[in-house]
Amino acid sequence: MTALHLRGVFLPDETERDAWIVDGRLTFTRPSAEADTISSGGWVLPGFVDAHCHIGLAPAGHVPDLAGQVEQALMDRGAGALLLRDAGSPVDNRGVHDRDDLPRLIRAGRHIARPKRYIRELGVEVEPADLVAEVEKQVAAGDGWVKIVGDWIDRDAGDLAPLWPDDVLKAAIGRAHELGARVAAHVFGEDALPGLIAAGIDSIEHGTGLTDDLIAAAKQAGSAVVPTLINIDNFPQIALAGAAKFPTYATHMRALFASSRERIRAAWEAGVPVYTGTDAGGSLPHGLVRDEIRALVGAGIPQAEVIAQASWRARAWLGLSGLDEGAPADLIVYDTDPRRDLTAIFLPRRTVLRGRVIG
Ligand SMILES: [Zn+2]
Repeated sequence: MTALHLRGVFLPDETERDAWIVDGRLTFTRPSAEADTISSGGWVLPGFVDAHCHIGLAPAGHVPDLAGQVEQALMDRGAGALLLRDAGSPVDNRGVHDRDDLPRLIRAGRHIARPKRYIRELGVEVEPADLVAEVEKQVAAGDGWVKIVGDWIDRDAGDLAPLWPDDVLKAAIGRAHELGARVAAHVFGEDALPGLIAAGIDSIEHGTGLTDDLIAAAKQAGSAVVPTLINIDNFPQIALAGAAKFPTYATHMRALFASSRERIRAAWEAGVPVYTGTDAGGSLPHGLVRDEIRALVGAGIPQAEVIAQASWRARAWLGLSGLDEGAPADLIVYDTDPRRDLTAIFLPRRTVLRGRVIG
């Protein structure tokens, strides 16, 4: 097999160097074999991470067939996302693992919710007494992550409310950790967060209800936040749709939307990791990781930090290496430094996935 060669400024260490790709892996030692140069100059990143998307879910409904799922993963790849964390899918999307031209996929199995307390037919629905047992099942079905719905509208109360008692969360998240899995929780409002954070939640999805005290607690607990700002932009529509029947809920959703940028920036300022997720598959299409990067920059997080969190730091968080000696060769080359020039991310020069040039 011919080796591939590239030269550029490697991030995050900012060193201009030669690198080779041999058998799908990166090396900084010149191999004995001939090498084809695929890129010279530019800035090299290990690709982006969409840390919250749904393969097999589309705005129009479920996508049970592999062909449709492949199309979604290719859209994500086209935007520069070479690693995806699926935050819960109603269909079997394991087939994506078998295609080496698709982004790496880390799956969370199915959403775990309660009857009448989430989007219909999306998650598995159990009562609190069965949450631990369901977590065990979803740990077995996923790739090291479990997804719990932490809050949703309680139609009797007319507002967002936690789905699970705190002691149940503690038992369920503790059980996932015992089994070596991490837990992500959907949470819009404030009230479900204390219980989730006290239970050691690993990943707070959306997190619009993070008050300063809760941010401090999340930092202490080692929780990360994946806000999905481009999907939080749908909160005003959600509020409008529910306003006639659930005015308190509508007011709450509008308030969460209004403070969302400021809250996410506060979480970042306090040292809580803020990763990039699009929530593709719900009300948004796939392939929007760059839009979420722009939204996070727009929220006031420094661009260099957003790029780091969206790329090598998110990979490390999910257990994948960056551009290290011997690492799987997943990389994108840009003409200019995307930490300073955001237009760069829309103009990739070269994309390599698992050592193969794909663009
Ligand atoms: Zn989601």
